[in-house]
Amino acid sequence: MKKIHLANLPTKVYKLERLSKKVGKNIFIKRDDQTGSEISGNKIRKLEYALKDAIDKGCDTIITCGGIQSNHCRATSAAATMLGLKSILLLRISTYPKVEGNFFLDKLFGAQIEYCTPDEYRNSRNEIMEKIASDVASKGGKAYIVPEGASFGPGALGYIDCMKEIVKQENELNIEFDTIVCAVGSGGTYAGLYIENKRGNLKKRVIGMAVCDDTLYFQNAVEQISHDAIKLIDLKLDIDKSEVEINDKYVGIGYALSTEEELKFIADLAALEALVLDPVYTGKAMKGLIAEIENGNLKDSDNILFIHTGGLFGLFPKQQDFEF
Ligand SMILES: *Cc1c(COP(=O)(O)O)cnc(C)c1O
Repeated sequence: MKKIHLANLPTKVYKLERLSKKVGKNIFIKRDDQTGSEISGNKIRKLEYALKDAIDKGCDTIITCGGIQSNHCRATSAAATMLGLKSILLLRISTYPKVEGNFFLDKLFGAQIEYCTPDEYRNSRNEIMEKIASDVASKGGKAYIVPEGASFGPGALGYIDCMKEIVKQENELNIEFDTIVCAVGSGGTYAGLYIENKRGNLKKRVIGMAVCDDTLYFQNAVEQISHDAIKLIDLKLDIDKSEVEINDKYVGIGYALSTEEELKFIADLAALEALVLDPVYTGKAMKGLIAEIENGNLKDSDNILFIHTGGLFGLFPKQQDFEF
């Protein structure tokens, strides 16, 4: 399966010197938050495949869904606009949202926005997107539906490529990462890393830090996405969800909700390394990684690679919750 070139790749990898010293492990970071500026973050690697598929199928409109501050929706509307496609976003809201952060950018990129309640989102987002697609068809257009987070077969291919990119960088930097850590919100990023780790017999420990739901939920999701992905590339691989390591201890008080400690962690790391994590995904995931190191659960890990999956625009709407 082919992709369109949209992201700035390869993303750079370097060691977080001060953090490494502080926790007594070598912690490296891969800057997938720098895949672009409008199209920044992990979603663009997935969209390189998804949008190619859409164009190959003759579609002129991209429909996708997410929370009001969805990085994925923002990246999708930006990428669609870059490619001359129309985007329609189904956004989950409980009260009328402030126009800020990613949502503000969605509007700047000219996305058509539809809203649904959290209940509708949970129970029938795919049906609602199908309905929007048939409205597009009745007006003579052709829509392509990208599921939540682009976590489906084509999307996961983007993170198979990312794992290959990591292996190449290991050779260039003359280092071997024994452990790879990323945030998990819908599972597509993890699925791609998992597939290539297994296919290439890389023997890395790949840890996904859940930011919502629980371990079992994501083991099932990753299994499904992985099956869909390997089918697309005619790869025979024994997908085993018991190998999918998802840590659900750092979800905190819920998706996109931040505790004081989480925000303080983000501020402390920014002051230590000039590295800005986001409150919804990477802040929780990195906080979890450091806690696991401190708890002694990563004794066999010496060289850890944390994938910074992006989310910067989602930090600004939380600005007033920080205490200095
Ligand atoms: C979507 C997202 C993730 C999670 O990736 P999934 O493939 O959905 O699990 C992590 N970090 C950021 C910043 C994201 O926007």
